[in-house]
Amino acid sequence: MGGFPVLGERMRLSVVVPCFNEENGLASLHEVLADVLPSVAPDFEILLVDDGSTDGTLAKMRALAASDPRVRFVALSRNFGKESAMLAGLSEAKGDAVAIMDADLQHPPELLRRMIGLLETGYDQVVARRDRKGDGRMRSLISKTYYRTMNRLVDVRLRDGEGDFRVLTRRAVDALLSLREYNRFSKGLFAWIGFDTAVIDYQNVQRQAGSSKWTFGKLLNYGIDGVVSFNNRPLRLAIYLGLLVTLLAFGYAGYVVVDVLASGVDAPGYATLMVGVAGLGGLQLLFLGVMGEYVGRIYYESKRRPHFLVKETSDTRVSVVAGAE
Ligand code: UDP
Ligand code: MG
Repeated sequence: MGGFPVLGERMRLSVVVPCFNEENGLASLHEVLADVLPSVAPDFEILLVDDGSTDGTLAKMRALAASDPRVRFVALSRNFGKESAMLAGLSEAKGDAVAIMDADLQHPPELLRRMIGLLETGYDQVVARRDRKGDGRMRSLISKTYYRTMNRLVDVRLRDGEGDFRVLTRRAVDALLSLREYNRFSKGLFAWIGFDTAVIDYQNVQRQAGSSKWTFGKLLNYGIDGVVSFNNRPLRLAIYLGLLVTLLAFGYAGYVVVDVLASGVDAPGYATLMVGVAGLGGLQLLFLGVMGEYVGRIYYESKRRPHFLVKETSDTRVSVVAGAE
């Protein structure tokens, strides 16, 4: 372990909070953070990222930044999604250590004390892992199955309940920022950069205000992103399955030829034909889809567009800045 200075005298902690339509929660979030943080870090900033909210979130941020100099904000030009909002926060953060947390108080700020404490003992990442109390039975079951399958499929280890509630050292943040991919699957990226990671457990908390932005469709897409953005094993699978099916087909063809020669009877073909056509058609469509998924990613990556656009920050209100291109 490194043991390099993290929270020394001059240590500055940035708390990055991505916010999308969180106008009702911001005031209490600020209150709790302003209460907890002074005893956690001698010098800190609260960096709010407005991810193109359509409610009064940005107005609330302006007011908070005006009344509390420790609050800064970055407002994106539209809703870019939580991944991009976090990236915007990470690239704006000035701290020697950076915490990432949700705006809805589902990530208890009191945990930051323990997390920073662990960071100071030499870890580069400290993750808070929640249990699944209060989540729907179905959702917990699906998540568990998902992570079990994922870990078999991808090269980096992902764990259920480990989300984006983390504290990172400056060098871990810089490592994350050096990963330039356009399709960002943070869970995987956090694991990919490596470094010594500590995990602490906490009890699931229900959202304080507003509502969750996850729909079933979004979760499904997120799941597919996770598999595809971290390896090419689905493509490898296509090759093996294709090989297997081809071998079976040749074997069966051989069998039919031998059978006709031996018995002299015409091979009754309809059923086997249908099975063969439908089976192969299905497989081909499936793997065309898989290939398309990768090709689509190449397409998006090759455009090299910025991950987000900034329309306003607490420091400037005029220029438009392209971030993290
Ligand atoms: N969020 C965001 N952009 C989005 C969706 C969500 O910045 O497009 C933020 C949201 O404001 C919150 C965090 O990401 O601070 C987690 O979102 P949410 O609570 O909806 O997710 P859940 O807790 O249900 O997983
Ligand atoms: Mg939430």
